[in-house]
Amino acid sequence: MRTAGINLEHTKKINRLLILRLLCSGNGFSRAELARRTGLAKMTVSNITSELIAAGLIEPLAAERQGAGRPPVRLGLTRRSPAEVGLFLRRDSCTGICATMDMEILSQVEFSLGPGETANTLLDKTESAIRYLVQHCEDREVFGVGIAAMGPLDYTRGELMTPPNFYNIRHVAMAETLRERLGIPVFLANDMDVSASVEKLYGKCVDLRNFVYVGLTNGVGAGLLLNNSLFLGNHGFAGELGHMTIDSDGPLCTCGNRGCLETYVSVPRIMQRFRRELGREFEDFGGLCGFCEKDPAGAALLDTLLEKLSTALINLCNLTDPEAIVIGHSGALLTDSQLESIERRVNQGILAKGLSKIQVMHSAFGTQASLYGAAALPLKQIFDGNLCYERFFEKTPSCPSKRKRRGQDPEPDPDLQDLAEPDELEEQEAQQEEQEAI
Ligand SMILES: [Zn+2]
Repeated sequence: MRTAGINLEHTKKINRLLILRLLCSGNGFSRAELARRTGLAKMTVSNITSELIAAGLIEPLAAERQGAGRPPVRLGLTRRSPAEVGLFLRRDSCTGICATMDMEILSQVEFSLGPGETANTLLDKTESAIRYLVQHCEDREVFGVGIAAMGPLDYTRGELMTPPNFYNIRHVAMAETLRERLGIPVFLANDMDVSASVEKLYGKCVDLRNFVYVGLTNGVGAGLLLNNSLFLGNHGFAGELGHMTIDSDGPLCTCGNRGCLETYVSVPRIMQRFRRELGREFEDFGGLCGFCEKDPAGAALLDTLLEKLSTALINLCNLTDPEAIVIGHSGALLTDSQLESIERRVNQGILAKGLSKIQVMHSAFGTQASLYGAAALPLKQIFDGNLCYERFFEKTPSCPSKRKRRGQDPEPDPDLQDLAEPDELEEQEAQQEEQEAI
């Protein structure tokens, strides 16, 4: 009997998070729509939404009349629902936002980084930025902080390891130190990984099970979302697309190999080629992309570089078999026609050509996917079962982390380690209702 009780509670937690996840998308679903999308029984959805309303997390949105009859009541987050803080750490600056759980920005901040920076100045500046954001969140509770940064990172320890060209700052335990100073759970993740995650949670890939996010920056990186989960690899280093060899006799790369992708298509390398070969200087990558729309010589040069990128993407597609490729960071500034040329090459070059078309699309967040991804990181930890947040649900029994003081290491919620898919839940739901009937 005891085992059955635990299973039911497990199912209940998963169901609640499935509903909350949809409501956090900002789409204002009705109860009937929530039931259809999750595959849960209408009564279950009704019970869960009543709980969330009672907890002050969601509320009925203003009704919109559409023709005759009463329109369905749509539900959305309240102004009392908690907020999250996200920071995107780059080599020369850091941008931060405080956002609602449906990604409405409440406040933002930016600070610069430069020569003379140390681990301590970095931590002090980051702490001040977070404190500012926490104080400017419309009196909501901030339940977590996400930091997106360039690699390499130690995911388990939340440590910035040995980022190249970063003022010799090495091995900084960002997450733990800031968690101790602020008393809020802090998570550190790779900027490409959080970008892929936020496309899955809020962006263009909500309904996709397999896609890759590719970001053009000072290098080239990828976040791999495979079989509905982020793929990190053994050390969290998966997705180092920039160091895929395109030509073993090519230019020397910072990694010591020759002809890596990013020796051709990192943003500084592209700008350098235009300067050297066409004598053209641009203020930013967007200017260069726009110029190439009008200038045949520019278009031809950019096309040779995008061909290299397409070659790498064909290799990546042959390895991962995705439904789509999302291009972001500065790559979001490529024009529609430039993206179409990549899409055409990729679909002509992959082994599975003709089976289905791989879409190549701009990020839903333009050049800012890492910033939004950082802000969504604490919520993702809840959905993944790595952060227990029992106050979401007023009547929820104690979670394992409840015994711990806030600010200490958040413990994973063992009941939520593997969120089941809606079709699996339907079966569990039926069993649950059967039990309740008894
Ligand atoms: Zn390399």
